[in-house]
Amino acid sequence: METIKKQIRNFVIISHVDHGKSTLADRFLELTNAVPEEKMKEQFLDMMDLEREKGITIKLQPCRMEYKGFILNLIDTPGHVDFSYEVSRSLAAVEGAILLVDVIKGIQAQTLANLELAKKQDLVIIPVINKIDLLPATAKIEETKKELAKILDISEQDILSISAKKGTNVEKVLEKVIEKVPLPIEKKEKPFRALIFDSKYDAYKGVIAYVRVVDGQIETNKEIYLMASETEAKIKELGYFKPEFLPKDVLSAGEIGYIATGIKEPGKVRVGDTITKLKVKSEKLKVVDIEALPGYKEPKPVVFVSIYPENSKKYGLLKESLSKLKLNDASLYFEPEHKEIFGQGFRCGFLGSLHLEIAVERLRREFDLELIVFSPSVVYKIIDENNKETLIYSSADWPGSLYAGSKSKQGEGKKIQEPYVKLEIITLSDYLGKVMKVLDEFETKYIGTEYLGPNKLLLIHYCPLREIITGFYDKLMSASQGYASMNYEILGYQKSDLKKIETLIAEKKEEVFSKIVPRNKAYSEARKFLKKIKEVLPPQQFSVALQAVVDGKIIARETVRARGKDVIAPLYGGDYTRKRKLLEKQKKGKKKLKERGKIKIPSDVYLKVLS
Ligand code: GDP
Ligand code: MG
Repeated sequence: METIKKQIRNFVIISHVDHGKSTLADRFLELTNAVPEEKMKEQFLDMMDLEREKGITIKLQPCRMEYKGFILNLIDTPGHVDFSYEVSRSLAAVEGAILLVDVIKGIQAQTLANLELAKKQDLVIIPVINKIDLLPATAKIEETKKELAKILDISEQDILSISAKKGTNVEKVLEKVIEKVPLPIEKKEKPFRALIFDSKYDAYKGVIAYVRVVDGQIETNKEIYLMASETEAKIKELGYFKPEFLPKDVLSAGEIGYIATGIKEPGKVRVGDTITKLKVKSEKLKVVDIEALPGYKEPKPVVFVSIYPENSKKYGLLKESLSKLKLNDASLYFEPEHKEIFGQGFRCGFLGSLHLEIAVERLRREFDLELIVFSPSVVYKIIDENNKETLIYSSADWPGSLYAGSKSKQGEGKKIQEPYVKLEIITLSDYLGKVMKVLDEFETKYIGTEYLGPNKLLLIHYCPLREIITGFYDKLMSASQGYASMNYEILGYQKSDLKKIETLIAEKKEEVFSKIVPRNKAYSEARKFLKKIKEVLPPQQFSVALQAVVDGKIIARETVRARGKDVIAPLYGGDYTRKRKLLEKQKKGKKKLKERGKIKIPSDVYLKVLS
C-alpha cells in the first residue's frame, strides 16, 4: 500500500481551446498502454458524441495511467471560457498542471485565464509548447518560448517543445511531471475524507461521485456520509478511471477515483461536498470531529433562457432531466417558471452562450426531449426611489405599463442597471484594425492595451454582458481569422440606459414579443423585430397591424396584408354591379372580423420569432 501511494502524481492539462490538450492526452494513453491499441482513437478522452462532433472538450475527464512504476492521474480539461468551472474543479483535485501553448497561436486569452486559476491553487506549472511539427523552422518556436517565459517569469530552457500529434518529446513531458509534480500529502492515518469534483447519473448504480481522496481510505460496500447534503449511503462500487470505470476494492489518500453511491435523487450529491465514512450510525447521523473540505465557489450563471417542453405533458420529464444533467454539468441552474401560452417550463441559467447551446443539445439528445428555447437574456436590476432592488429575468417583469396611449413612462424615477464585463482580447497586431471594428460595432468601452510580444496585443474593454452573448465571439473570430481570442469576467452591475419595446399585434399586446434594448437602438431594433414577425405571421382575412411601442409611443409599424380571397374570380366577365356588390359584401365581412379583433397566432410563429 505504502509504496504505491508514494508514487502517485496527479495533474491536469490546461490551455486555450484547440492547443492540443486532448491530443497530448492521447499520446500519454499510448505511452502508458492505458488503452488497448485497437480501441484507441483521436482525442480519446473526448468521450461524449457531442465533443467529438464539435471537436471541443466540454467535460473534464480523468484517467489513471501507470508508467515506470508511477501512478499518473491525469485530468483532461476544456479550454473554452464557458467551461472554466470544469477547469477550476479539476485543479482542486491535483498538484500539477501542464500548461500547453500552440506554437503558432502563442499565448491566448484562456491560456492566461487558466494559468491564473492554476496559480491560485498553488499548482506546479509545467510549460510546454505544442505543434512544433507545423514549423520546421525554429524562429517562431523561439518567439513563442520567449512569450511564455516572460509570462511565467522563468528561463526559456525550462520550456519543453513537443508535437502532440507526432509524439515528439512527449515522453519528456511525462518525465517532467514525475520529477516536478509533488506527491500528494499523505494523511493515511486520518479518517477518510474525499472531495467530490464531478458526478454522473447511472440508472443502476445511482449517482456516481468523481472523487479525490484527501485523507484515509475507503473500501467498497462501506457506508458513507455526504456532509453538506447530510445524506447517508452505502457504496455500491468504487474504482478508478481507465478512463471508463474500473472497479477496485479500496481508494486511498492521494488517489482519484469514483464512488457509486446508489443514491437515486440527483440533488443529494453535489460537487464540492465532502464524503466521509459513516462511523457513528447513531441516532442523529452526526459525523463528529471531521471537518468538511473547502468546497467550490458556486458558479454564477450570467445568461438566462426560458426552456419549455414542446409537449406540455413532458414537463415532469424535463424537470427530472435537468436534475440529472446538473450532476454532470455542475454550473447549470434552473428554476420552474410559467408562461401563458407555453405553460410550465424552466428559467435556466448558464455561464455563457456556448454553455447554453451545449446544455440544450445534451437535453435533446441524452434525454430525448423536444424543447422550446427562448432567446437568451441577462438579468437586469431596477432600483426604485427607496433603493429597493428588483431583479428582472424577463421583459414581462419590466416596470411601467406601456400600452399605446398610456401616459406612464418606463421606470420613471427608477435606476436601471445591467451586468458589465471586463473583456480581454488577445490579437496579433495584423488583425488589430479588424478587431477594433468589431469592438466598435458592439457597445464596448476602451480601457487599455498591453503588449505581450512584438506582434501581440492584449486589449481591455468594458461592455455590457448583453452585448457579448449574442454573436460577438463569432464576429471576432471571423474578423481575425481565428487569431484573436477572448476572455471575460463579470465586473458587476452598472447603470444603463435601456428601454422595453412592446409589440402590439392587431392592437393587442403580445408580452412574449417584448424586448429590452438600449435606448439608442430602440428604433432600429423595433423595425428589425417587426419585420421578422411580418415574415412568419400567416396572412389573416383582414390586414393586421404590427406596432412597436416604447413609452406609450408607436415607434415602428408594419402591416401584414389580408389574405386576398378573390371573390369575383368566378364571375367571369360578369356585369359590374354584381361585382361591386360582392366586393362590398366582402369588405363588410372583413370589418366584422376586424371588430372581433381575434387573430390566431400559430405557435410556430412564436418559436420562429423568439428562438
Ligand atoms: P484541445 O482543445 O486543447 O483539447 O485540442 P485538441 O487535442 O482537440 O487538438 C486541436 C487540434 O489541433 C486538432 O485538430 C489536433 O489534431 C491538432 N493538434 C494537436 N496537437 C498537434 C500537434 O502537435 N501538431 C499538429 N500539427 N496538430 C496538432
Ligand atoms: Mg480537448
